Amino acid sequence: MINTMSEQAKRHWDKVKDLLACPACKSTQLVVQNNQVRCLCGISYPIVRGVPIMIQNARAEDYLPGKYETMDVLSQHDYSPRAKTLIGQYSKGLILDLGAGAKNFSQENIVQLDIFLFPETDIVAQGEALPFKENSFNAVISQAVFEHLRYPELVAAELYRVCKPNAKLKIDTAFLQPVHAYPDHYYNATLEGLKQWFQAFEIEWEGVESYQHPWMTLYWILDAYLAGITDNEKKTQLLNSSVKELYKVLSALRDNQSDTALADVLLTLSYKKQLELASGVSVEVKKTVSAKKEVTYVKQTGIITSSYQVLQLNNRIAELERELNEVKYWLKEKNALLRIKNELIDRLDREVVITNRSWMWYITQLIPQKIAKLRQKWGIK
Ligand SMILES: [Zn+2]
Repeated sequence: MINTMSEQAKRHWDKVKDLLACPACKSTQLVVQNNQVRCLCGISYPIVRGVPIMIQNARAEDYLPGKYETMDVLSQHDYSPRAKTLIGQYSKGLILDLGAGAKNFSQENIVQLDIFLFPETDIVAQGEALPFKENSFNAVISQAVFEHLRYPELVAAELYRVCKPNAKLKIDTAFLQPVHAYPDHYYNATLEGLKQWFQAFEIEWEGVESYQHPWMTLYWILDAYLAGITDNEKKTQLLNSSVKELYKVLSALRDNQSDTALADVLLTLSYKKQLELASGVSVEVKKTVSAKKEVTYVKQTGIITSSYQVLQLNNRIAELERELNEVKYWLKEKNALLRIKNELIDRLDREVVITNRSWMWYITQLIPQKIAKLRQKWGIK
């Protein structure tokens, strides 16, 4: 396979080939064959022009050139000043750019990861299931990505796993930004929320970068608001109003008192536009007897769930499975471990709501106990 690769394909492949682990089971026992990375666990991942697509059930044809070209401009960010400083500090280390997007440049020691295959992408994967060995990276940069993640806490946990001790991470994310879906936008975070996602790490710096200044909030919201007023006359009316007038009308609206023409202009937004710019969103939900979607998902993939604890549990199980996977004469005993895993997953099915405490108990008490017993029984140190 290596012989038939183009120069660029080889450059991508050489960057990541020694870092790979199966995102599903975390095994590093991978076989590269016929443009595929194959894991012992039975999952294969396609390689497209030197880039491994480390997503379960990924199809190579979905990642051929041209598929995501229209998004290039939307997700093209240069590194921020602080990110550049970090890159400078780690010029001899390995850096992960998580959600690198469509950068039009590359650097030998920076691994560009994204869920789409852009020209400079080195590896395609999901943050919740990183396809890397543990302790792989000296530094991580992730810019304007975390608002687009379904499970930001799990991604933080995965970053913890793949980072070397004392690795430094520079993460920025959306706070007061309109919805911008490339392709999905889930969470806007306060600084406290962002720190909560990274609670396992030590905070070395926190703050607002120059491009995150409140003027950007005002600009972005005003820009999106104007775009939402399709009637040109009304748009002009808003543009011609003074800040003083606008503020007065907004205050009156808040007090349910405004019936001016300008208030009328402000209220013309479509529902779709309201969802993009609303100061809050609401749902009404119902608990049904079959509300087990999340649990089913865990069972299917074995990787992703909305609970940090469950990820830790899955990682722990994966770790144990990997140990056993890698030693052939333990094959019989591996079944015993699979039984434990199935037992736990069965329990998940029964207990949709599980307290953190019981999970912690599973992770810190029950599983280690069971494993210790098994190890003793099998004479494994
Ligand atoms: Zn695997």
